[in-house]
Amino acid sequence: MERVVFCRGCGKLINALWLYCPFCGSPVWKGGSFEAAVEEPFAELEKKNGTGLEERFARMERDLDALERDLDTIIDSSIDGGNAENEKNG
Ligand SMILES: [Zn+2]
Repeated sequence: MERVVFCRGCGKLINALWLYCPFCGSPVWKGGSFEAAVEEPFAELEKKNGTGLEERFARMERDLDALERDLDTIIDSSIDGGNAENEKNG
């Protein structure tokens, strides 16, 4: 039975016995787990597209902003906490 692997360059299935991918000319993946062979082309694609990561960072930044605001509120209220709090609320 012939072994096939995913090309690291273009993600196509190719014969593992080949040294280079006939589609894009990248060196054929040798060794490593099947998972690694599958992940690699996807990571490569993500790098090329560049969208996934940027979006994730943007979302992370928004989450951090929200978190910072929450923290400020918590810190403010704990500083005012003791005596002033009762006067304000009362
Ligand atoms: Zn290829």
